[in-house]
Amino acid sequence: MIWEKPHNFARMRQAMVKSQIEHRGLHDERVLEAMRKVPRELFVDEKDIDYAFHDGPLCIGCGQTISQPYIVAYMTEMLAIESTDRVLEIGTGSGYQTAVLAELASEVYTIEIVEALSLRARDLLREQGYSNIFFCAGDGSLGWPDKAPFDAIMVTAAPDRTPARLAEQLAEGGRMIVPVGRGEQYLELVTRKGASVERRTLIGVRFVPMTGEIQKGEP
Ligand code: SAH
Repeated sequence: MIWEKPHNFARMRQAMVKSQIEHRGLHDERVLEAMRKVPRELFVDEKDIDYAFHDGPLCIGCGQTISQPYIVAYMTEMLAIESTDRVLEIGTGSGYQTAVLAELASEVYTIEIVEALSLRARDLLREQGYSNIFFCAGDGSLGWPDKAPFDAIMVTAAPDRTPARLAEQLAEGGRMIVPVGRGEQYLELVTRKGASVERRTLIGVRFVPMTGEIQKGEP
């Protein structure tokens, strides 16, 4: 009989955080703790479970991906989320990043344009006991105006340019992180200061393109 040693996922998550995230210089203890806690192994395809803690993105079906753990941690740390914050996420995908945000914020509003992915993430996150996540299957490129303003906006699909409609939904002092560009892509950190926004270009990345209304061009 072949006996397979069961996975010790909690230890694998701890090792992932140490080697892929802390060693690369991220130190926000709240973010690290959320990454140790959220069961990433449940958000990947069952056939890919052995690669759940791989240092890169993985396919999740419907032509979409779950982001690399380091990028999830980096983007989350840059948003400096406080426990009273209301957060908007565009691109629910697997729901993994959503869970990390829900560990840190008071409420998370998440929009996914592929309905099958939105429903799968909703079921999984409800099963995990999250009650502070609100789901929408639809086009997130226009944000969620009824629920705005948001203290933080996490965008995990790349528009060609900084999405003005989303920036308008930031509260005073609110932060948005978004991958911008076709071909070459960079993360941008956008901070609302009164009537204007401040933009900072961060690291190079590769995300799937943002689809929906935004592809027809923004004002
Ligand atoms: N954060 C996800 C990664 C998702 S990949 C995770 O950790 O798993 C990007 C996702 O953005 C894809 O699921 C894609 O379908 C979605 N997407 C692309 N354009 C969108 C739009 N306009 N509105 C909402 N979701 C969008």
